[in-house]
Amino acid sequence: MPPDTPQPSRPRILVVEDEPSIADNIVYSLESEGFMPVVCRTGAEALEQAKRELWSLVVLDVGLPDLSGFEVCRRLLGQRDVPVIFLTARGQEVDRVVGLELGADDYVVKPFSPRELTARVRAVLRRAAKSEGTPATAAIRPIEVDEVRCVIRYFGQALQLPRYEFRLLRTLTKHPGRVFSRAQLMDQASDEPEAAMERTVDAHIKSLRAALKAVKPDIDPILTHRGMGYAFTEDWSSTAP
Ligand code: CA
Repeated sequence: MPPDTPQPSRPRILVVEDEPSIADNIVYSLESEGFMPVVCRTGAEALEQAKRELWSLVVLDVGLPDLSGFEVCRRLLGQRDVPVIFLTARGQEVDRVVGLELGADDYVVKPFSPRELTARVRAVLRRAAKSEGTPATAAIRPIEVDEVRCVIRYFGQALQLPRYEFRLLRTLTKHPGRVFSRAQLMDQASDEPEAAMERTVDAHIKSLRAALKAVKPDIDPILTHRGMGYAFTEDWSSTAP
């Protein structure tokens, strides 16, 4: 194929791991499975790479020499949504929960077999691809988060959202039906959750609702749970007024 022909390229995987032997193993098995891995040794380097280029997935060690993997994940997902798989040490039960709460897609406990990791990488990419776009012949889904382009489509229409609102809606839609407190939403959507106020969330929810209403005036998929927070609908038949 000539080099300028657009073709589905091999998925690029950012591997953030400071232990060279582990990194080498991961790279070897990812390459042999048709992926294109690039290794970073520190969190700072990973964030730099993530800013410069688009990645299909990030494999992220929790124990890095500079920043914790969690901090790296938080900042990564603040820049751009990308599937993340954490590498955690055995027995870090709490860490796994924290990792998933942060929005990671999966985790693998060390020591792991490179085959296990590549299987997870493939599974996560499959899931991400599924949520990313539907063929033209398929029915338009009510809500679709395009993680690669950082766009949320609502009934097929791309929403123009400021970053904070993009993250807010992404958080809500990731777990339809789950009620998020304002504090949780602030934490997910804000660069500086400590500085934000709970009523900021209300204000952003209000403008999100306006953006959604502009597409479908008769539907309000964001549910208010008084005294608790907000949730995204899981039952589209109940959204009409
Ligand atoms: Ca490490």
